[in-house]
Amino acid sequence: MSPQKFPLVCLPTPLHRLPRLSDELGIELWIKRDDLTGFAGGGNKGRKLEYLIKDALHHGADTVVGCGSVQSNFVRQLAAAAAMAQLEFHAVTMNLPYDTGVGKPKQEARVRGGNRTLGELFGARYEVVPDGDWEELYAHADAVAARLRSEGRQVYQVPIGGSSPLGAYAFYKAGEEASAQAEIPFDWILTATSSGSTHAGLHTFFHGSKTRVKGISCDPEPEMSADLAHVGAGLATLLGREQSFSPEEFDIEFDYVGEGYGVDSPAGTDAIALMARREGILLDPVYSGKAFAGLIELAKSGKVSGRVLFWHTGGWTTLLSEPEQRKN
Ligand SMILES: *Cc1c(COP(=O)(O)O)cnc(C)c1O
Repeated sequence: MSPQKFPLVCLPTPLHRLPRLSDELGIELWIKRDDLTGFAGGGNKGRKLEYLIKDALHHGADTVVGCGSVQSNFVRQLAAAAAMAQLEFHAVTMNLPYDTGVGKPKQEARVRGGNRTLGELFGARYEVVPDGDWEELYAHADAVAARLRSEGRQVYQVPIGGSSPLGAYAFYKAGEEASAQAEIPFDWILTATSSGSTHAGLHTFFHGSKTRVKGISCDPEPEMSADLAHVGAGLATLLGREQSFSPEEFDIEFDYVGEGYGVDSPAGTDAIALMARREGILLDPVYSGKAFAGLIELAKSGKVSGRVLFWHTGGWTTLLSEPEQRKN
């Protein structure tokens, strides 16, 4: 039986051409508007949460535990989804989780406003633990889940970014949706990638077609390809397929992360302004702005050409966040 949904998002999201940026970049540029899901401020996590929340209810959960940065778009959307399903949501967060191999960025994290404010509005209980690497964040989330279980709660732990086989299934279906909307197949699909199920789902759907899927990483984490292969294998099982993935088959660019996860990059800031001023569309500083900065450079160098679909994964609410101390 195929996975069932708890309805959250308005589908299909729009897919349309970007006329001014097409001229400027010399490619035929289209955009998939997952910023316009009509759910909790939009973004790519709504699609995944339809399946994950259904799964939580199926498991008899009364409480969900999830983690991320305090500006996590996932935590914002999970907060709304949990509230709609009458699940108590504990968000275990850090101001700025970082990658051990790279260390903590020097730039100040965006801490106030933005997604944090909205997540609280949707009813999330934020617990902010001291900054550390991602493994430390997951360990804190496990500890909170264990504590709640010992108090008798039925806890469902949601993986980071919703990146489980069910999350990837949502993006397999999203690939099907976009493909039905396009009159002519795309040469390229470019998307921001981080926890990986967006990329893994799209990769699996378009595998063997003329459309190449490229992820622009927002994390300085080379082991990401292995995570994608792992999620891809789980998705294949869900689809009832005998298919395995090698980490090398995923096309990921690591050149646009900037100083690290969660901090603005100069190229990303410029890309956000360009999209805003040419097409009236809001990107974000953590994911979609960096991904679009990558698209601009890849189009200019001819590495990406023809009919190109930029998959807008959302996140504009982060634009309304700021560091603890205003510097001016
Ligand atoms: C989470 C997120 C991504 C990354 O998607 P993954 O499936 O986690 O790789 C990209 N853009 C935005 C705005 C996000 O919130």
